[in-house]
Amino acid sequence: MLKCKDIVARSSDYIEGELSGWARANYKVHLFMCTHCRRYLRHVQVAAQAAAKVAKRSVSDEQASHLASNIQKAASEKPDGDVNP
Ligand SMILES: [Zn+2]
Repeated sequence: MLKCKDIVARSSDYIEGELSGWARANYKVHLFMCTHCRRYLRHVQVAAQAAAKVAKRSVSDEQASHLASNIQKAASEKPDGDVNP
């Protein structure tokens, strides 16, 4: 069974569809059982969608830097709880 830290580490691969069938199934089982990781993944997906929207527009260096720091912060946040520490 995957642990919460595994979910965080593989979130980009999951979102981008790069997990194999078995790995993806294990990932989904953990998400089904862990509200904290579901919430974490939702935050990462929102940040990724925002980044995709911004990428289509012309932004200042300051705006790009601000967005990058927000994405890094969201990606480094640990889930609120760990069901499998
Ligand atoms: Zn979890």
